[in-house]
Amino acid sequence: MTSKIYDTDFQKAFSSIFAVPPQAISIAPGRVNLIGEFTDYNDGFVLPCALQYSTRILFSVRDDDLISVQSTHYPGESECFSISEDIVSGESHWGNYVRAVAYVFRREGLALRGFNMLIDSDVPQGSGLSSSAALEVAIGGVFNHAGNLGLSKEKIALLGQAAENDFIDCQCGVMDQMISACGKEGHAMLLDCESLKTQAVAIPKDLVVVIVNSNYPRKLVDSEYNQRRIDCENAAKKMQVNSLRKADMTTLDSVKNLLTKNEYKRAHHVISENQRVLDAVDALAENNMTELRHLMTASHISLRDDFEVTVPATDGLVEICAAALQDRGAVRMTGGGFGGAIVCLCREEDISSIEEALEAHYEERFKLKANIYVCSAGDGLLVNDL
Ligand code: ADP
Ligand code: MG
Repeated sequence: MTSKIYDTDFQKAFSSIFAVPPQAISIAPGRVNLIGEFTDYNDGFVLPCALQYSTRILFSVRDDDLISVQSTHYPGESECFSISEDIVSGESHWGNYVRAVAYVFRREGLALRGFNMLIDSDVPQGSGLSSSAALEVAIGGVFNHAGNLGLSKEKIALLGQAAENDFIDCQCGVMDQMISACGKEGHAMLLDCESLKTQAVAIPKDLVVVIVNSNYPRKLVDSEYNQRRIDCENAAKKMQVNSLRKADMTTLDSVKNLLTKNEYKRAHHVISENQRVLDAVDALAENNMTELRHLMTASHISLRDDFEVTVPATDGLVEICAAALQDRGAVRMTGGGFGGAIVCLCREEDISSIEEALEAHYEERFKLKANIYVCSAGDGLLVNDL
């Protein structure tokens, strides 16, 4: 990530757009979740890692009350709004992420000022690597740094989540913003979504994280996602606990006849997945590939059969990659499901066997092309004066 900090073409682009040089840069990464899916909004455990792919924002303070923004991904478009007026949705889809973060900072009573900002990113958008969280956290980093607000990275993450929940209207949990803000190079992060306590978990040096995006067109995601949340909340209520974090399998089975079939299955996934996250932390510490494979396979099966968020294309990707890696790697779906990506933990020398297997089987079976991202765990939010 650091090699791109002083990218002179990017700085020149800023100067030519805004006719002033940039003063500082804010950098926040995308992420992948190794294990712990749909546990975050149930106050459970997740184990994501930040990626080397990141969103970078060059910025300078303005003398007026305008926030003026461009993105290298949307050339010819610009976003501009005044912080002296009410911050409401604008016409630009991507510009609304900037407005969203400004809106929540203002709502918290945090001082805002006018900025020029130029956004650049190598986090693929809409591929499940959370480009939106990377953008929100990077913007939060700009506001915090230039306003001397002294916010913790955790607070910047919470403000980013609030921006996505309350302004963009996407009811995501806090995982994506927390890992983008607080990630540590070479490490995954065990996050307790109830207490927000984190623990850096070293990823064995001989392992790489390979993400394969199915490119399956996602449909009905919001309604299905919301229904899963409702099922989880109902199951918790019927077990008389505040969240599924507080439930265990014995209690679940004792109230089985009070729960709908789906409520039981969703709760079964969440309770079992929380334990798998804790077990995966131990397995990483021991570099125990057999155990990692067992846990990630069980997670995928639970997401397929109990939480019902996989599709044939992601089940197929897992099958193809698992067959290619055999006992040399661990594979599961990752992210919000209904398409999206899968994640493999394996050694560098086995990447080619994944590539060959995908080449041979994926397009033929699903009429889709997969994208592969070979990743290493990167750092979280970084803001530097230039
Ligand atoms: P993801 O899984 O990548 O988070 P989302 O749909 O949640 O997918 O967020 C993607 C949206 O975030 C894009 O459509 C765009 O509006 C915004 N976005 C992400 N990265 C950038 C960028 N570099 N420049 C401008 N907008 C971006
Ligand atoms: Mg997103």
